[in-house]
Amino acid sequence: MFRRILIANRGEIAMRLIRCMKEMGIESVLAYSAEDADSLPVQMATESVCIGPAAASASYLNQAALVEAAKAASCDAVHPGYGFLSENADFAALVRENGMAFIGPDPETIRLMGDKEKARELMKKNGIPTVPGSDGLVDTADEAVRVADSLGYPVLVKASAGGGGRGMRRASCRDEVMAAYQDARAEAQAAFGDSSVYLEKEIVRPHHIEFQILADRYGGIVQLGERDCSMQRRRQKMIEEAPAGCLTPRLRAKMAKAAITAAKASGYVSAGTVEFVVDQQGNFYFIEMNTRIQVEHCVTEMETGIDLVREQIRIAAGMKLSVRQTDIHPAGHTIEVRINAEDPQQAFAPSPGTISFAHFPGGGGVRIESAVYSGSRVSPFYDSMIAKLIVHAPGRQEAIHKMRAALEELTIEGVRTNINYLYLMMFQRDYLLGQFDTSFIEENTEKILKWEKACRKKAGLTG
Ligand code: ADP
Ligand code: ADP
Ligand code: MG
Repeated sequence: MFRRILIANRGEIAMRLIRCMKEMGIESVLAYSAEDADSLPVQMATESVCIGPAAASASYLNQAALVEAAKAASCDAVHPGYGFLSENADFAALVRENGMAFIGPDPETIRLMGDKEKARELMKKNGIPTVPGSDGLVDTADEAVRVADSLGYPVLVKASAGGGGRGMRRASCRDEVMAAYQDARAEAQAAFGDSSVYLEKEIVRPHHIEFQILADRYGGIVQLGERDCSMQRRRQKMIEEAPAGCLTPRLRAKMAKAAITAAKASGYVSAGTVEFVVDQQGNFYFIEMNTRIQVEHCVTEMETGIDLVREQIRIAAGMKLSVRQTDIHPAGHTIEVRINAEDPQQAFAPSPGTISFAHFPGGGGVRIESAVYSGSRVSPFYDSMIAKLIVHAPGRQEAIHKMRAALEELTIEGVRTNINYLYLMMFQRDYLLGQFDTSFIEENTEKILKWEKACRKKAGLTG
């Protein structure tokens, strides 16, 4: 087993990793930016090393500085968390070249699955349904129009290197294809330094259903059930839950099998997620694979009782999976919400600043993942997600009631948050009935924001 692991990340996921390493008797070395000098993970880690200034490009994305810090601190492995360098094949390779383990899949697998168009081709070859789309990359606007016409509208122009909802544009008719093509390319070039795009037919009102996978180096591979991540705003997940009410046992089994096939086809080792969209008729289509620990991994942990980060670390250290498929029995119902420092009333603009007071809910079945404390600062330099609140209960209704109670208790002052917005979401009739798809949040936000404004006014809060 490893003795010391470098954490190349920050915020809540850094805390999650440090806690797990403590439990495993492994020392944690946190690489942090000058901006994060006062952050909780800096205090919690065994050792902390400043690797550069605030800008991510100079710190959390600075491969050379991270590898140097890891070597100087005698680490034997690097955990990238999610975001930042977690899906960067070059970084994974660099860590290895320097004699350390990268806690994630092999660089070749990251490269292959990071190219969403290539991943799509590989899935097709392995008999996994993919969304009807272009045959390979689309290189000119004229070709984009031709392909879109033949697919039928609406279509999505998607960046091969895309992630986090970026590099994707919709065209609802022929006139919009040109602009969608150019905008997607430009955004992908700016965000990922790669402008390649492909086309997919847009599935109407789908569910986003993903399966969690774990695989070791010895052919051991298991799936830990699904998560329904259809509650999205601008193609970014906001609320995630398991199990997914839209799946019949038969469909779940078919998708689980496809997820295992997908992982095997890519030579997958470590924790990973296979993402699908499911249409209203119950047809499912592969969209992409995320080759890292995901933001919403805790949902699966609450359902199965399996610590995914621990498994990731064990696998990277050359150990076999500690669980067999027959040991995995997801139970009860889990819901996770992402708490962001943002102002829903100002188009969800980030709201950085100092947190004057923070109180987190507790009790049975309530889990908080956060690096926030009273007096801590929310930096404008990084992602606005400041906490995840996860609840687990025997059934969905009980989980929703637990989530409401926990959100009522959760208090974060000093910055604007989406707490009230999420709370009001827990009262939407169709959500309660389990009748939602990826359009739900977009369609209900205006109503909820009006409601939130009225509540604030009634409570005597200005602004
Ligand atoms: P996931 O696929 O794990 O659900 P999302 O699709 O919501 O995650 O987000 C994708 C990407 O958005 C992440 O891989 C990361 O690049 C970025 N991201 C989201 N939250 C954070 C965060 N707290 N810190 C850094 N990056 C983040
Ligand atoms: P990213 O790499 O940014 O996570 P994805 O390919 O996973 O991009 O797509 C992000 C979201 O966009 C999905 O969760 C889903 O809600 C929506 N989406 C993606 N592809 C399609 C499609 N073909 N039809 C309908 N919705 C889609
Ligand atoms: Mg995705």
